[in-house]
Amino acid sequence: DHRVGTLYGSSQNSMALAAAAERVAAEFEYSAQDVNRGVQEFMREMDEGLGKQGATMSQIPTYVTAVPNGTEKGLYMAVDLGGTNFRVCSIQLHGNSTFSLTQSKVKIPQELMVAKTSKELFAFLAKQIETFLKTHHNDHYVNHVEKRRRKGSLFEGTHDEEVFHLGFTFSFPVQQSGINKGTLIRWTKGFDIKDTIGKDVCALLQKEIDALDLPVKVAALVNDTVGTLMARSYTSPGKTGTLLGAIFGTGTNGAYVEKLARVTKLKKVGAGKQDVDDSTGEMIINTEWGSFDNHLSVLPNTPYDKSLDAESNNPGIQMFEKRVSGMFLGEILRRALVGLIKDPSVPLFSDEHSNQNDVHSTTNIHDNSPLWSQWALDTSFLSIASADNTAGLKNTRQTLDSDYGVSAPSAEDAEAVRLIASAVGKRAARLSAVAIAAVILSTGKLQHPTDIATTNNATLEVNEDEVVDVGVDGSLVEFYPNFEEFIREALREVEGIGKEGERRVRIGIAKDGSGVGAALIALVADRAMRASSS
Ligand code: BGC
Ligand code: MG
Repeated sequence: DHRVGTLYGSSQNSMALAAAAERVAAEFEYSAQDVNRGVQEFMREMDEGLGKQGATMSQIPTYVTAVPNGTEKGLYMAVDLGGTNFRVCSIQLHGNSTFSLTQSKVKIPQELMVAKTSKELFAFLAKQIETFLKTHHNDHYVNHVEKRRRKGSLFEGTHDEEVFHLGFTFSFPVQQSGINKGTLIRWTKGFDIKDTIGKDVCALLQKEIDALDLPVKVAALVNDTVGTLMARSYTSPGKTGTLLGAIFGTGTNGAYVEKLARVTKLKKVGAGKQDVDDSTGEMIINTEWGSFDNHLSVLPNTPYDKSLDAESNNPGIQMFEKRVSGMFLGEILRRALVGLIKDPSVPLFSDEHSNQNDVHSTTNIHDNSPLWSQWALDTSFLSIASADNTAGLKNTRQTLDSDYGVSAPSAEDAEAVRLIASAVGKRAARLSAVAIAAVILSTGKLQHPTDIATTNNATLEVNEDEVVDVGVDGSLVEFYPNFEEFIREALREVEGIGKEGERRVRIGIAKDGSGVGAALIALVADRAMRASSS
């Protein structure tokens, strides 16, 4: 009987699909043992990077030697060139841990990310600054233009106080040689403009700002993680200060407070030594952990990770980032799904009414579906699928249909997708925990003397001076369901942290971190300059 055969066949089909999805999801498991091995290697690479130039993990000295305490005041500007958007803002720091922020945001045009020359990109950035000034600080802008017309020169007759001091958040690896000087080491996150490598990005921006005659001075160069750390310290200054600022967004990275004496490579090269204010005995280090374990000694490496890397524009580098951050997770999932779609024994998105051997015609996937093209599966889809608790996974099915060119996916299809998406997301969170744990352990923050035998198992209360504070930002921590909880679960599995240690870790979103943080660093730089010139 034809009908019986079909029914029998289709339940067998859904079992085959579920089994295949489970098999793929299992490829993304990252065990407690893996986490611990990862932490050990991470700590080793942190040490190596502090000792020498050109290590896998760059451990870049930022020349920022103090974190704010909330009393800082003034009006500053900040711009943020990240992986996706360019933001321009002005920030009024009120001096009581609060601030007001005015901002504008534009998506960075794709063609500028891979422009022929740096000028195209930086001229665009300067143009956005001009538009921002005209829109939000027009009095100031017009005054400046007036004055300039009278005096005939840019800064002549313009008091330094009338020039905006700008913090430039530039979220790429830069070799810093001073608070507002630094050359690009390499592009990441889809940017690829050859002639920027080795150039001072502050100078490139200042040149285009001057070409438009704007009353703006690039006062500080800031990685977004450093900004996040500063912003977190300003807005929630705890007893112990913030230890780490981390981004889990389009890319991933962390900056933390290190003992100056441990940054041995600074002494060796003597580079910029005169610029180092060593009164605090500390310096913020930009780890550039996106390139942790580029040699793959402890990182997982599924076939999907391998092909993603091989077909990326920077094979062999940013290997940690390629397993953790938002730019890549969608692509990992896409590759895993395409693997199943192309496997004739797995009926994912299959079209029951077709018997042909051609993949495209035996599935319900349109020819122009984003599933067939590189980078076209957005990481936000992982969040949608992983969070889906609607009946029959309606949200996931609808999104597959409306955004991904799959007509009428079944509940079984959606379940397979959800399972794999969750596995990819969870692995990313567990890898993120490796980085956080390594920074906590290597800085010895859990060995706080007051901790000895003071934690009480019966209560969840943690003494304020035992808190290890971590500021985070980025689309993944903000939107991926349970990202922090998965991080915490893994932290509890780490030897030397455990349940007791994990409770002491406070993780908080530092909203607008890069803007406020950059303003704070511009302020610090501004003060230092006044001090040295008076
Ligand atoms: C960059 C870092 C940045 C991170 C987060 C990475 O690709 O190398 O400098 O902090 O993305 O934006
Ligand atoms: Mg950003």
